[in-house]
Amino acid sequence: MLQILRKSFTTGVVTTSYLATPLEVSSHTRGKPAIDWANWKDARPAAAICPTGAIAHEDRGSQRVAGLDLAKCIFCGLCAEADKTIRMTQVRECAAVGREDLRTSASYSLRPDGTHDHMVSPPSIAKHLPDGFPPSQHASLEALGRQLKERVHKIFGRSLHIREVDAGSCNGCEIEIVNLNSPVYDVERFGIHFVASPRHADLLLVTGTVTRNMELALKKTYDATPEPRLVVAVGACGCSGGIFGVNYATRGPVDAVIPVDLYIPGCPPHPVTILDGLLRLLGRGETK
Ligand code: SF4
Repeated sequence: MLQILRKSFTTGVVTTSYLATPLEVSSHTRGKPAIDWANWKDARPAAAICPTGAIAHEDRGSQRVAGLDLAKCIFCGLCAEADKTIRMTQVRECAAVGREDLRTSASYSLRPDGTHDHMVSPPSIAKHLPDGFPPSQHASLEALGRQLKERVHKIFGRSLHIREVDAGSCNGCEIEIVNLNSPVYDVERFGIHFVASPRHADLLLVTGTVTRNMELALKKTYDATPEPRLVVAVGACGCSGGIFGVNYATRGPVDAVIPVDLYIPGCPPHPVTILDGLLRLLGRGETK
């Protein structure tokens, strides 16, 4: 016991002050890819190497529509290796309220050799950050926590209770979700608790492409969750079906089975991506 206490005192506080201060991440970690749309000269190499079809193009006569679907992206970085106009950022905050908000595309006129001549229409703006609760870079963490608790109480009348549902995940997302409860991220300081039953939950956090074996269980879990309820699809599989898509064993993304209120992309998403998405969704919930 004494040893544990000594260790705790010497370790000090490990909880991140993220939201109040920018997240410190290793230079080796990858956030979402960013395309230099104005200087994108050819979408074909990146589309050919992208293992999930997140970067794709469609040629219509002398024009090409090319884009990035962040819901499918696994942040592997292959596109950035194949195309110097694409770079991997360290931006983690990429949750979106609508599935379409994760798609960005631009159209180009084509040269005879298939390269881009000039941009015909600029990229549609992806709305990764829903309105309602922009975390202030200047707010203290305590103020932010207070603000969040007030909002949660206004929506649900109490703290937020989450039931996690693995609908067919590889458990990569689960590892990051478990991290949310670690001393580093400590999600309970925001009044967010994980519960064992959907009957006690306000929000379902669903991971994995939905397997056909889990389809009925997911629907029943949704029905068992009292209203007002929120559903969050986590990870590339939950958002888009991932590399599995629809096949004899899988039904595809979560929104193919139950309505989804928030999409959190990544493979797996960083705990901060999940935390950021939850906080923003709760802010939005006030206006629903
Ligand atoms: S980082 Fe995303 S868009 Fe780029 S190749 Fe990998 S999956 Fe495709």
